[in-house]
Amino acid sequence: MKVFSLSTLESEPSDPKTFVGQARLTRMNDAADRPHTNVYRVAFEPGARTHWHTHTGPQLLQVIEGTCRYQKDGGTVQEADVGDLIAIEPGERHWHGAGSDGPMTHVAINIDARTSWFEAVTDVQYAQS
Ligand code: MN
Repeated sequence: MKVFSLSTLESEPSDPKTFVGQARLTRMNDAADRPHTNVYRVAFEPGARTHWHTHTGPQLLQVIEGTCRYQKDGGTVQEADVGDLIAIEPGERHWHGAGSDGPMTHVAINIDARTSWFEAVTDVQYAQS
């Protein structure tokens, strides 16, 4: 058993090369070894979002604060509420972030999932819903 206590973990600012706007990331790396699992708590300021990206394994996102805005490439922008779970398949090109009206925090569970980053989500793409 491993325990990651939020009160003792450091958070770090998101990388502006892979996020638009401000977010803070708390890493819970190596939560499991087989399959290798990293967990991230990501707190987005209003309007902040990831760039377009893919993962090599599944990614599970659970919203724990606010409204999550997300999109799969080729689909429309969607919103998820606190408690909702978004299950992203390996190779699905997508982005996720806060709504424009308030902050959003999600927990991301990445299972054998390396991430490939692509271009930023433009304001026009972000606003489509
Ligand atoms: Mn993702």
